[in-house]
Amino acid sequence: MKKSKVKTPDWILEGYDSPEEYAKATGKKAEKKVKEKMYRLKVCPKCDSEDIGVILTGKEGESPDGWECRKCKWKGPEPEEIKLNEEEFLKKTEREENEDGR
Ligand SMILES: [Zn+2]
Repeated sequence: MKKSKVKTPDWILEGYDSPEEYAKATGKKAEKKVKEKMYRLKVCPKCDSEDIGVILTGKEGESPDGWECRKCKWKGPEPEEIKLNEEEFLKKTEREENEDGR
């Protein structure tokens, strides 16, 4: 007969109803919720790339006349910032890294 490798958590062995109660009783901190980090970024409205920037006129003292995407050559007014949480942000950067690797 095989021995189960699953270890009974301490809080059950100690007779508590939940890990939170056990943590409270033992003075250990229960897993706390981390406040979600938000990322604000500007992306190309056409291809969703972050590789955008202002169009430089090359002349000093002149204000840039818009934004451009270095990936799909989109040009236009300054795009609005989008907000991403950490998960979405990581997914997005991962996806872009994969695309660049091809
Ligand atoms: Zn683009």
